[in-house]
Amino acid sequence: MISPDRARLTIDLDALAHNRAVLAAEAPGAEIAAVVKSDGYGLGAGPISRRLHAEGARSFFVARMSEGEALRAELGGRDAAIYVLDGLLPGAAGRLAAARLTPVIGNLPQANAAIAVAAAHGGLDVALQVDTGMNRQGMPLAEAAALAGPPGGLGALRVRLIMSHLGSATEPSEPRNRQQLEVFRQARALFPQSRASLSASAGAFLGPDYRFDLIRAGISLYGGGPEERPDPRLRAVATLAAPILDIRNLRPGDRVGYGAGFTASQPMRVAVVAAGYSDGVIRAAMGRGQAWVAGALRPLLAVTMDLLVVDLEQGEAAIGDPVELLGPHALLDDLATAAGTVAHEVLVRLSGRAERIYQGADRP
Ligand SMILES: *Cc1c(COP(=O)(O)O)cnc(C)c1O
Repeated sequence: MISPDRARLTIDLDALAHNRAVLAAEAPGAEIAAVVKSDGYGLGAGPISRRLHAEGARSFFVARMSEGEALRAELGGRDAAIYVLDGLLPGAAGRLAAARLTPVIGNLPQANAAIAVAAAHGGLDVALQVDTGMNRQGMPLAEAAALAGPPGGLGALRVRLIMSHLGSATEPSEPRNRQQLEVFRQARALFPQSRASLSASAGAFLGPDYRFDLIRAGISLYGGGPEERPDPRLRAVATLAAPILDIRNLRPGDRVGYGAGFTASQPMRVAVVAAGYSDGVIRAAMGRGQAWVAGALRPLLAVTMDLLVVDLEQGEAAIGDPVELLGPHALLDDLATAAGTVAHEVLVRLSGRAERIYQGADRP
């Protein structure tokens, strides 16, 4: 039962394991690596990673080196590769080595620094990111070719993984996917000894050509559909619920909340709920999003800092009843669309004010 005064975020680790199995079935033969940057998309990198490790995950990706250090501690003695997407920053080789983190080398200066570190320490394992058309991280193909070119040019550097990232994988018919795939094939051919990874969650659903050896799965592990809309195969991992504090009757012409907001055109009953944008319900969802209460999805009329207002329509509800703002009924991708954003942002904005509980074991 929900506590009477406070929003509660429930993180369902069994649903996480289910979603991992869905990805594994979608990409047979590929390793499903877990992307747990930004504290496991806001859901807790420690419990998330321990459960995924128990499900067989042995490769993890974070963005920052500090996230990798924290994750190494959370994983204790478990056997796992942790890749740092920021790569090798100046002066950071000692910290990377101490936490046994694998940098994802993303440009030529980083590559040269890594070659020097490898020479000084008798070897260094890295991943190498090639830009295939997203223009964010990764070195151009020509630079990767120059690096791979002269025999022995890499020195003691061991490129364990060659990777790239798709810019339009949520749109399967986008020609950019094929174009990036073609460039990636050339990059991969330069490093025949390395494993290869092109796809994140969405790419895993683009078919066999896009799978390669390793999928870097993030949002779909957490329940986000590959095409930015709900996918019935995936289960909600995060559920945010909060209690009804008050039920009010509105007359035609009554206005709800700040400013122009919502004006009632007929008599209506609304619930005032103990959650707001400081709990992570994105304010832009007001007027477009829906919450699950009294057995149905109902309009979110207002979102303020600590409170939100939901139209109860004909539903029967009482003070203290829980309202689901995100979860198995109020779906992640629908809320993201209503708020004009992506599922990733909805998750990472879930704040620490809500009480957090984990459902399902992190070590089953
Ligand atoms: C964040 C990220 C991922 C995971 O993406 P999802 O869409 O959450 O699956 C994979 N690879 C890279 C390089 C990333 O930055």
